[in-house]
Amino acid sequence: MAIDHPLSDAADLDAADPLASHRDRFVFADPEVVYLDGNSLGRAPKSTREAILRVVDDEWSGELIAAWDHWIDLSRETGDLIAGHVVEAHPGEVIVSDSTSVNLYKLAAAALDARPGRKVLVTDDDNFPTDRYILQGLAAARGMELRTIATDLDRGVDPARVAEAVDDDTALLCLSHVSYRSGAIADMAAITADAHAKGALVLWDLCHSAGAVPVPLASAGVDLAVGCTYKYLNGGPGAPAFLYVRRELQTSLRQPIWGWFGQRDQFAMGETYEPVDGVERFQVGTPPVIGVTAVREGVRIIAEAGMKAIREKSLRLTEYADALCRAWLEPIGFTVVTPAEAERRGGHVTVHHPEAWRIAQAMRDAKVVPDYRSPDRIRLGLAPLYTRFADVHEGLTRVRDLVTAGRHLEYGAERGRVT
Ligand SMILES: *Cc1c(COP(=O)(O)O)cnc(C)c1O
Repeated sequence: MAIDHPLSDAADLDAADPLASHRDRFVFADPEVVYLDGNSLGRAPKSTREAILRVVDDEWSGELIAAWDHWIDLSRETGDLIAGHVVEAHPGEVIVSDSTSVNLYKLAAAALDARPGRKVLVTDDDNFPTDRYILQGLAAARGMELRTIATDLDRGVDPARVAEAVDDDTALLCLSHVSYRSGAIADMAAITADAHAKGALVLWDLCHSAGAVPVPLASAGVDLAVGCTYKYLNGGPGAPAFLYVRRELQTSLRQPIWGWFGQRDQFAMGETYEPVDGVERFQVGTPPVIGVTAVREGVRIIAEAGMKAIREKSLRLTEYADALCRAWLEPIGFTVVTPAEAERRGGHVTVHHPEAWRIAQAMRDAKVVPDYRSPDRIRLGLAPLYTRFADVHEGLTRVRDLVTAGRHLEYGAERGRVT
């Protein structure tokens, strides 16, 4: 029998990959591990370790408090780097601060205040849990209605459904650009335009987009966005997130947490809160300098590679993984659920299997690291900067072999605290 998808195909694709050398920028502690989870926690860049040591040894230890002269601008500078290289935005529209959850709260609350009299928030039932919970909390606190659209878990957000739900009473529409579960991309431009026609503000969650797919914030006229930096931006566990506010909106929006890092002439220690005009007004308190330094390092690597080349490789990787999954895994009970069309596909490929949880556990023991997502899906995250086609080949070979041998059946059905 002819072997379909021989390893030599993967080797050819790797040899032709213009981003291949970027892999050397990252740490590979165990070369046997096939890491397909860069969309949950990106790998550590080698230069991040050096940059953090510089902050600790030279700046903190050496300069002591005088280092605040340059630390004070780090969040804004890193935001500008994200605006210039990761998302389509202008300088002064992005800042690094807090977590994605906190930024979502700040921007959503600011948006609701900017639409007084409107009583409805709209999201979808497949939005990431923290987004749904924060919107539930805001709706409860303000006596507003949270309208939740039903989204197909695999096809992603349907613009027609969104258009039905958003009306003249809608203050804010909040959705994820790339679905964390299926990897489906939502039509940012069409959905934003429709909501604007009804007078609503729009807030996009970019956690699974930033560093994986183009994010047309400026051309789609997006008002607000949040995103995290520890996934495709390789900023490290719990690295601070970023937020985006379209420049024309900045002075008319007030966030709910009136901290001193948003204050005009901050060190005058003035009596009353009067926020600065720029994007800094969406900061709250002292930034975590070591964390922001790690974000800057991760974003620098993305900037060097360029989002265009990253997206091109990402599409080739997901197409390759899709082909292998269909050829090898569908005959043994899997189904590929990520949209097949390139323009609807984010940076990961999701497969469905009734025994997904057992298989995910067995995969980890076979040193192929995926993400399990309820109810019965496995995400294969293919971070373009360090994932080789040969890794996809090796990882999926191991999955095929272990499921064919029934090794996953040795694992229990009960789930741990972190999946
Ligand atoms: C990872 C992720 C988050 C994480 O939010 P945190 O505040 O960093 O915990 C939020 N939204 C989406 C869509 C995510 O994928």
